[in-house]
Formats: sequence, structure tokens, C-alpha cells
Amino acid sequence: MAAGPYQRVILIHYHEIGLKGHNRSKFESRLMKNVLGLIGGYPVVTIHKISGRLIVFLKEGTPREEAQRCASFIARIPGVARTSCGFKCPREMDDIEQASIIALAEAEPFRTFKVAARRAHTDFPIDSMTMNKDVGAVLCDAFPDAQVKMKGMDVEVRVEVVQNSAFTYAFSIPGVGGLPVGSSGRLMCLLSSGIDSPVALWQMAKRGAVCNAVHFSGAPETSSTSEYLVEDIGKVLEKTGCIARIYTVELGSYQRQISLECPPALRVILYRRLMFKVAERLARTCGAKALVTGESLGQVASQTLDNICCTDASVSMPIFRPLIGTDKQDIITTAHAIGTYEISTEEAPDCCTLFMPRSPETHAKIPVVEEAESAFPEEAWVEEIVQAARRTDFKQPR
Ligand code: ATP
Ligand code: MG
Repeated sequence: MAAGPYQRVILIHYHEIGLKGHNRSKFESRLMKNVLGLIGGYPVVTIHKISGRLIVFLKEGTPREEAQRCASFIARIPGVARTSCGFKCPREMDDIEQASIIALAEAEPFRTFKVAARRAHTDFPIDSMTMNKDVGAVLCDAFPDAQVKMKGMDVEVRVEVVQNSAFTYAFSIPGVGGLPVGSSGRLMCLLSSGIDSPVALWQMAKRGAVCNAVHFSGAPETSSTSEYLVEDIGKVLEKTGCIARIYTVELGSYQRQISLECPPALRVILYRRLMFKVAERLARTCGAKALVTGESLGQVASQTLDNICCTDASVSMPIFRPLIGTDKQDIITTAHAIGTYEISTEEAPDCCTLFMPRSPETHAKIPVVEEAESAFPEEAWVEEIVQAARRTDFKQPR
């Protein structure tokens, strides 16, 4: 069925932003900017704000499939709770009914439906109950095989009457939720090419943080494969505006020196403390106020409680560990959903696999570690490493 005279739109719904009181309009503008900055490849004319929603206006003649693809894409942008494909029409019952028929046809296949109408302005003479009944009756005539069902229906036909127009839609896609990137400050994420850290970064981006990242490769002692994988992970996260920048740092030669002179069991802790110190220094240079890792309690030797305390003590900045209580299987499910899993499961040596001791310490004591560390010119190393860091900026909408 053709779209007829009605303009094709995508409605963007948001939950949390709606709760933000005075800040609401700031959050809405941020989301609007982010969406506009990311949907370059889609046939979008403009985006407007209307009472509690963003409306994306699509080019005339945009086919339904393209509109639905665009709606699925927008649903993956942080801050979006749901997207719906529908139509804008005049505030006349005839138009609302006709547009609802087209909208419902696009939600096929379905057997049962209900109409849920709402007036944002009571200046519209017909109340929502009457709209539900009238539009419902017209839809029953248009779809004689379908039945109205008030609970557990296959499709809900929504009608929203606003100041100068009305919208109707029946096809909705759940979004990722959260807050728009750019509404919660800046973070520095320690990003490996493994499964966990891209998920940790994404979770913080979903809470509205602008995420810069730092990756430590084992070069020149290993190949640079992990650097390319992390770059690919960056490109995936860039699509939804979740990553701003990656610093790439070669740690191999420092690890070699540590491995030569430090008690083997403490090597990993020392590598990790060096990583945290470099990350903290980089964070300060770019205005990030906390570090983020993909650690999950007890997952590997370096993630026991004692060892986590020991790496924490190497920096003064807060460290966020969004996955600390999450099981690996759940992390994997999220990695699939955000599109990083395939890249993360490719084999790559990085600084974690380099010069590993046979039995790493699992209960490190801070004074013992500090003593071992005092053999190295850490302060000068951090300075040198930060100076040599390579920087890749991603297209971020703002
Ligand atoms: P991931 O899957 O994220 O690599 P992991 O299970 O392999 O995690 P570890 O190797 O102990 O666990 O790393 C714990 C965290 O330390 C990672 O989630 C990441 O935040 C950080 N990290 C580890 N290796 C690197 C690296 N090469 N570059 C940057 N950060 C790293
Ligand atoms: Mg790892």
C-alpha cells in the first residue's frame, strides 16, 4: 500500500530523558544532534521536537523498507528507548483514519490490534476514547480478518494529536535506552581487542559519557594485530556515536624490561599498574575524569579482589568497572548485540599475552608490589609512553 498523501516519519521515543526535569530540553537537543550527526546515509530531511518525542521527516517517496532500516539504526543510538515508523497527517479524523490504515498495513503480519490515541492538546475536540473507537471501527472495516484485543495484541496503533498535526504509527522497534552521548562528561576506557572492554565502553557511552580509549599493544615485541582489531572495534562503535578517540600505545619494550628484573609472579600486576598510570595521564590531557575497564570479579588472575585493589592503588582517578558483577555469558550476549564479538574473538597477541609468568600472583600485597616497582623509572616511562602515543579520532556527532 502506498503512503498516499501523508508524510513518512520516524518517531523517536525516550524514557529517561523525559524524567530529567529542567535539563530535559538540553538532553533532547543532545539526542537530536547525535541522531542528526549519525544518519548521514539515510534519506532524512530534518528532525523536529514535539511534546516528548523527536520526529524524523523522511524524503518523499522513501519506501517502507528503507524507513524501517533507518528506524532500526536509530534504535541503536544511546538515549533512544524506541523508534516507530508512521505518518504525519492533518488534524482531521478522516486523515487520521486513512493514515492509520496505511500505518497498520505496514505492521503486517498481525491478527489482533488495538488503537491507543492521545491528545497532547485538549483543543482537539475529540477525546482519546472516542478516537480509539472511531479509528478502531475504520480499521476493522479495512482489515476484516483482524480482531481488536485490549491486552496481549499483536500490534498497537498509536495516534498522537499535537498542536498543528497528528501522527499515527503501528510499527515499533525497541531501542537501547540510556542517555545521549555527551550528557555525562568524558571517560578514558582501557580498550583491549578482547570481548569485555568494548562492552564496558559501550555501557558507559550508553550512560551518556563521551568515551576516549587507550589501547596497549605488545609491539615492538609482538605484531601490531591487536592495534588493527581495536581500530575495527572503534569503527563499529563509531556507527552509533559511542567512541570519540583511541590512543594507541606500544608497551612491549617496557614489559620486556619489567619481565627481566621483576619477580615473575608480580609481572602482570606491574604491567597493569603501568597501563593504569599511562591511562590516567592521557585522561588528564584530554579532560577525562575517570578510567573504565572491562574487569569482572574473579574472571582471571589479574581480576581477583586483591589484585584489583593493587592496580587501583597505582592511580588517584576513580576507576569504573561496569562489568564487575556480570557473568561472561551475559557479556558475550551484549558483545554480539553491539557487533564487536566477531572482531574480539580473532586471535591477536597484545600486551597481556606477552611475557606471562607461569603462575601469576593472585593475592598481591601493595607494599610488596611498590617495592618491586621502585626498581623502574616509572615516572619517566609514563612521560615517554604518553609522548609516543598515536591518536585516532572518530567522527562523533557534536
Ligand atoms: P578484555 O576481554 O576486555 O580484554 P580480559 O578478560 O581479557 O578483558 P584482562 O586481560 O585481565 O581481562 O584485562 C582486564 C581489563 O584491562 C580489560 O577489560 C581492559 O579494560 C584492560 N586491558 C587489558 N588489556 C589491555 C590492553 N592491551 N589495552 C588496553 N586495555 C587493556
Ligand atoms: Mg584481554
